[in-house]
Amino acid sequence: MIDRAKQIKLENFADDIASEIPLTPAIYRAFAAIERELFVPVGFRHWAYRLDALPIKANQWISSPLTVAKMTVYLEPDDADNVLEIGCGSGYQAAILSRIFRRVFTVERIDALLKEAKERFKKLDIHNIHTRLDDGQRGWRQYAPFDRILFSASTPKVPESLFDQLAEGGILVAPIERGNEQIITQFRKNGDTILEEPKESCLFVPVKSGIE
Ligand code: SAH
Repeated sequence: MIDRAKQIKLENFADDIASEIPLTPAIYRAFAAIERELFVPVGFRHWAYRLDALPIKANQWISSPLTVAKMTVYLEPDDADNVLEIGCGSGYQAAILSRIFRRVFTVERIDALLKEAKERFKKLDIHNIHTRLDDGQRGWRQYAPFDRILFSASTPKVPESLFDQLAEGGILVAPIERGNEQIITQFRKNGDTILEEPKESCLFVPVKSGIE
């Protein structure tokens, strides 16, 4: 149960994000509903509602709320039913998506991170997130096709098998590495063609292969 003081704090946080990035009502409500402080290490809780990325276990990062917001907006979630995320990390992005999509599938390659993320989902009574320990570059064939796919780690190239697992008309959003830069890129599946639209630069940890 979120008390009144915390609710105001969360709404101020969602307002801070919305002042930088126009949010749809559904995305705004998601940021005002999920307590980010539960996704950061205890020592960083007092910074949880700043607009910064923060370190988590295993040399990984919980993305800045602005980055989470941008990725969510570029997914154009209205009318979509399910989404696959590659790189669950702390689970914060997946928790935001769980308020917007009917079903969320998220894959993480580091077991220790996934265990913690699952505990958080349980604590928050979130039951529509399905998790898997795997190299997410393979997708999650059993539940494909996905209306939306989100890469939460940077990659030089989106594996072809992920486009195969994307529904017709579906959208995939990924930070694509170009030289020293990463560009949030939106891909749209249109029959046999994939339309590619670069959006803006960003900073994610790089995708890695295999599991730990
Ligand atoms: N979405 C996360 C932030 C992710 S940081 C959050 O909201 O906290 C990127 C994550 O991608 C890290 O946890 C990293 O371990 C994971 N990752 C990197 N390569 C991966 C792969 N091939 N498959 C699945 N997860 C991967």
